[in-house]
Amino acid sequence: MSDVVLEVRSVTKAFGGLKAVDGLSFEIREGEILSLIGPNGSGKTTTFNLITGLYEPDSGDILLKGESIAGLRPDQVHGKRVSRTFQMLRLFSNMTVLENVLVGMHGEMNAGVLSAAFRTPKMRREEERAVAKAKQILAMFPGRFSGPRQSQPANSLSYANRRRLEIARALASDPVLLLLDEPVAGMNPMETLEVMNQIKDLRDRGYTILMIEHDMNVIMGASDRVIAMDHGVKIAEGAPEDVANDPSVVEAYLGKRGAGAAS
Ligand code: ADP
Ligand code: MG
Repeated sequence: MSDVVLEVRSVTKAFGGLKAVDGLSFEIREGEILSLIGPNGSGKTTTFNLITGLYEPDSGDILLKGESIAGLRPDQVHGKRVSRTFQMLRLFSNMTVLENVLVGMHGEMNAGVLSAAFRTPKMRREEERAVAKAKQILAMFPGRFSGPRQSQPANSLSYANRRRLEIARALASDPVLLLLDEPVAGMNPMETLEVMNQIKDLRDRGYTILMIEHDMNVIMGASDRVIAMDHGVKIAEGAPEDVANDPSVVEAYLGKRGAGAAS
């Protein structure tokens, strides 16, 4: 049995009268890619927001390696090395590729790296270490961020590369859990395939990944396990093929609720 990295335990979150997440429970195991699927509005992003501290659960608990993180602020959750990307890109578009990765790193070295004003030898060493690490992370994306590209502003990159850069920035904090919200959204089939392989490569490097995705090819091709949600509730969990063929999942996607699908 592999170790459980994150446990979501009977978590509920309502907005007004709407239960966006309703008694949701699941576990993420170390070194796996777990995909969260479900129709629009089924509570996937809210689940991410609950895990990352943007929202506090109304009830239930969220445990990171056995320790409750429910109710912590986003910076505190990030400090516990839970990193995410967003459905809508949130890069610093005027900063360079390298700087975007550097800001994803933790605390101390950022000031030294980004403001040249007061540099002690110690800060300079930290800076060198941080830059070397950022370059190592960028090297995980072969051919994407090599050489001169690292000093280009993020807004000069192609859309697909900006999305890759967002993943690189999330990796800068050495995440014990990496959350990817629709990592291939807006990509063409070739880019989608590349990024899917990239995500599997990250898993093979030992990262633990929770991914929200709509692209069925990516879900089937990359996930170790899949959880399907509908109306805030988990309706299926298991191997990708099993979940994709689960009648309740098919029904949720076809919007056939109450139409007597069992007949
Ligand atoms: P998904 O990511 O699966 O498409 P979301 O988690 O974004 O779904 O949304 C789940 C439900 O909660 C939707 O009905 C959405 O409109 C609602 N919702 C999400 N965030 C908020 C919010 N901040 N305020 C009010 N309603 C919200
Ligand atoms: Mg969403």
